[in-house]
Amino acid sequence: MPVVGRLAPTTSGHLHLGNAMAFGMAWLSTRSAGGRLLLRFEDVDRQRARPEIETSQRVDLDWLGLTVDEERPPQCERDYTPWLAALSDRTYRCTCTRSQIRRTGGAYTGTCRDAGHAEGALRFRLQDQVETYYDRRFGSQRARALDFGDPVLQRRDGVVTYNLAVVADDIADGVTEVVRGADLLGYTAVQIQLWEAFGATPPTWLHGPLLRHRDGRKLSKSHGSTEIRSLRAAGHTPQHIWQLLLSWLDLPGDALDQAVSSFSPTAGRLGPIEVPAQLAPIET
Ligand SMILES: [Zn+2]
Repeated sequence: MPVVGRLAPTTSGHLHLGNAMAFGMAWLSTRSAGGRLLLRFEDVDRQRARPEIETSQRVDLDWLGLTVDEERPPQCERDYTPWLAALSDRTYRCTCTRSQIRRTGGAYTGTCRDAGHAEGALRFRLQDQVETYYDRRFGSQRARALDFGDPVLQRRDGVVTYNLAVVADDIADGVTEVVRGADLLGYTAVQIQLWEAFGATPPTWLHGPLLRHRDGRKLSKSHGSTEIRSLRAAGHTPQHIWQLLLSWLDLPGDALDQAVSSFSPTAGRLGPIEVPAQLAPIET
């Protein structure tokens, strides 16, 4: 079966080094397999999605040389009604508020599963089983999907969530491999149940190393310094960015196409990588 990978930026925040790392790995993985790479903007949450960010992301992707074979429709142009209907025997309405759920200790415990509410958020009833799956970098994984709580597929205001959209889109787009950051390694168990509920064969999974600040903060929680547009404005070049990111993967070169033939999903450090507060000075 031909390999189909995808870059799926979320249009609620500017691309940062962590996105570049995940997208670079996706690009290398698909290219080294002779596959097709798709681009899809994830803007299902229209309240948070901002068109000017999508524009900026296109500039960043182009600047970084993250070329794709085809752009697929963004989430705002897709109809998820049939996907929700297909899961109707596995969904239920939940009226719990965020603060009620927080009081029970984090993950949703299924309070409304048998309540028969006529309205509220639409949740997917997970099966209580341990999923075993293989990650191309981290190896065999075991995770209990229910530890994450039944995911919301559609909010009470009717907005479809990322939980549903990402799986529906990947199935619709024929995606065979998913490459992303290690923060979603465990959550994969939930997504596998959704893929299977749709009667689809889950893709292969590759979770890249997590990049974070020295103080443990996620890059997505920081502003400015690690954003691609800021690095560009500071005078860094794509070669400089790739030299750094590829070195963390023990790969040679300062451009993605130079690393294709040496790419291995297990290359480089497994654990989180600390991003220096200031990238090395620009060589002149
Ligand atoms: Zn509930």
